[in-house]
Amino acid sequence: MIIKKLQTGVLGVNTYFLINEKTKTAVIIDGGEHYEIINNYAKELGIEIKAELLTHAHFDHAGNAKLFQDNGVKIYAPDKDYEKLVLGDTLSKDFGLNFQTFTPNYKVYDGDMLQIEGFDIKVIATAGHTDGSVCYLVDNALFTGDTLFNLSIGRTDFPTGSFEDMKCSLKKLFSLSKNYIVYPGHGEESTLNFERENNPYSRFI
Ligand SMILES: [Zn+2]
Repeated sequence: MIIKKLQTGVLGVNTYFLINEKTKTAVIIDGGEHYEIINNYAKELGIEIKAELLTHAHFDHAGNAKLFQDNGVKIYAPDKDYEKLVLGDTLSKDFGLNFQTFTPNYKVYDGDMLQIEGFDIKVIATAGHTDGSVCYLVDNALFTGDTLFNLSIGRTDFPTGSFEDMKCSLKKLFSLSKNYIVYPGHGEESTLNFERENNPYSRFI
């Protein structure tokens, strides 16, 4: 597995490309807002995007999912954030932006083991930033969306957010046994050990 990252959009969201070198296909995690930029990058890399996994239903992460779906990409969304994408409850209005609503192809649930394009992807429900937020675990990589950042965490004051839920979710992540590489929805990579020891929010759990 090769992992590539592209940061785009008004809020600088990270899109991650999980690339299967054999099949020249990719699964992306949080496509961001700009379809062309992400798709052109995939073309540059010589790969075809087959699936998009969303960590949660905010416009900066899921804004281009409808366009990807229209172009044959299967969209996976957390079960509790699924309806928000259908209805357009994605914070876009708060930023004066349009959001193209859509119905994701699949719902993912806590503990699911997804097999997509040769990758085994585990779903870990981590409510707090939204009630449906999830993280995805693939090999030694933990994609944390807006749950866990390098030395910080996602905001919990948006609709369906909860600091109490966030504390439980951080506990869940920090109790994972390995020192996974953390790939957050915004900002730079980290490791789970570094966050366990240095993240200021680790003392809340
Ligand atoms: Zn968010």
